[in-house]
Amino acid sequence: MSVYSKELSVPSRKRVELLSMTSQVGSVVSESKIKTGICLLFSPHTTTAIFTNENESNLLADIEEALEKLIPVGGSYRHNRIDSNSDAHLRGILVSNSLTVPIEGGSLALGTWQTIFFADFDGPRHRRVKVTVVGE
Ligand code: ZN
Repeated sequence: MSVYSKELSVPSRKRVELLSMTSQVGSVVSESKIKTGICLLFSPHTTTAIFTNENESNLLADIEEALEKLIPVGGSYRHNRIDSNSDAHLRGILVSNSLTVPIEGGSLALGTWQTIFFADFDGPRHRRVKVTVVGE
């Protein structure tokens, strides 16, 4: 069994931004030479998330709107007494900050309509994603 790790750089340009990172992650899986296993993506931040879904512009707008309805930016939050980003922390928890994707035949075994997204809820910032590929 082999383990291959790499840290990817993900610069966001807006406060809330959903960024496709499937090709970057696919390159790491290729570099790893691992044919069968798992690829773990982990965000070492508290106001971001990683998820997979369809890369369709209307859906991405729906996701942003649904999160705004559930956890509005201007809500009354205790954490905002010392910081101004409680909504971003809460959204990060709701969506999750890690994702595991199977590797089959040396590639990410994503479904036809699945794209890997990095979500920044408190950008713009320079963000990082840790990628760990485990298998043989
Ligand atoms: Zn904070």
